[in-house]
Amino acid sequence: MAQLTDDCFAFNGPLLPVDEAERLIAERIAPIDGSESVALRTASGRVLAGDVVAPVNVPPFDNSAVDGFAVRADGLAANGETRLAIVDRITAGHVSDRALKAGEAIRIFTGAPMPQGADTVFMQEDCRIEGDHVIVPPGLKRGANRRFAGEDMKAGAVALPAGRRLSVQHLALAAALGLTKLDLRRRVRVAIFSTGDEIVEPGSALPRAALYDSNRYLLAALLARYGVEVTDLGILSDDTKELARGLASAAANHDLVLTSGGISTGEADHVRDAVESIGRLVFWRVAIKPGRPVAMGVLHGSNSDGAAFVGLPGNPVAVFVIFVRVVRPLLLRLAGALPEPLIALPVRATFSYKKRAGRREYVRVTLRKAADGAIEAEKYAQDGAGVLTSLTETDGLAELPEDVTEVEPGETVGFLSYASLVG
Ligand code: AMP
Ligand code: MG
Repeated sequence: MAQLTDDCFAFNGPLLPVDEAERLIAERIAPIDGSESVALRTASGRVLAGDVVAPVNVPPFDNSAVDGFAVRADGLAANGETRLAIVDRITAGHVSDRALKAGEAIRIFTGAPMPQGADTVFMQEDCRIEGDHVIVPPGLKRGANRRFAGEDMKAGAVALPAGRRLSVQHLALAAALGLTKLDLRRRVRVAIFSTGDEIVEPGSALPRAALYDSNRYLLAALLARYGVEVTDLGILSDDTKELARGLASAAANHDLVLTSGGISTGEADHVRDAVESIGRLVFWRVAIKPGRPVAMGVLHGSNSDGAAFVGLPGNPVAVFVIFVRVVRPLLLRLAGALPEPLIALPVRATFSYKKRAGRREYVRVTLRKAADGAIEAEKYAQDGAGVLTSLTETDGLAELPEDVTEVEPGETVGFLSYASLVG
């Protein structure tokens, strides 16, 4: 389980800026213990427990980058064509024992090993063949079209650092190094609940005053992208005792427990009391919209260590934003992953927007290409935190920083694509 002190989420200020929330997490949360050897094929999304050191060079030998003719640069005419005898032919996967001498060329194909004595390759498109000779033009630089052993990765170098969360390209590099297994951190165990008397499971009948649960599906799908082990514990009613029982049992065998709903200060918001009865709770009034109040805590189940707890808001868009800005860094930290800063890309706003200074706001936007070639962001008309179509009908979030109070059409705003956020 996670090693957490009861006061790890303590915070005294009135409003917590997003960057400060991330800093607190980085400073106070330690990664979970435990690692295991995992087959490369199933390692996607998981986190490296140690550095991967390259056991071989990539590529393993000097080879040709093109189909053409391997030559020695020093024998070539500087100002005119050179006529060379074609003395051998090397295709990929085969070796020539012939050492190239001045006045000679060897027909070579992409990926075939450079013959001894050759240092440069002419592309076949640039050559003329006359019988068993090839005519090459002047002006090609020595070493052209030659790929050197280890130019991509040198044997003995750190190919992938500890903490790297593995994506497709990392798996490709590990495979290029000949590896079939990787030493990975164990998966973070996360339990998720929804809360609310009005929330019902999709597939069941919809009574009056009820709505289908979307948050658990949102969270489960997001978590799956982060290579964690998710336990879906269903829906808890607005009852302090039931909530406390559910949370305590989840805390016993999970590193992180997530709930949504029930954390406002309304009379029917019982998550606060439930958490306080079995652990430690603090409220983060995060300076963020949508999102704001987020309950952070440590739950004690039957084990001594305690699980981290995040009580997310009830509205689905707020759940998404808080996941991205609070849960994601916490999850990466628990998983032992290196930080993965989100970089908003500049796009041109087509909308006007007013906001309060001192908090960060996320506006759902659709991208399009303007007549002048610039990328424009158009705001979705409905911006309520409960409007799910504001997520489904758009491409990502425009991130309006704390100091901004107004956006006018034509101004540059930062854009975070959903693809980058859920990756
Ligand atoms: P609450 O913070 O519990 O008052 O919830 C705020 C809003 O989010 C209410 O309108 C809830 O009905 C809604 N909500 C809470 N949980 C969910 C859920 N799991 N799926 C969809 N909407 C929810
Ligand atoms: Mg509720």
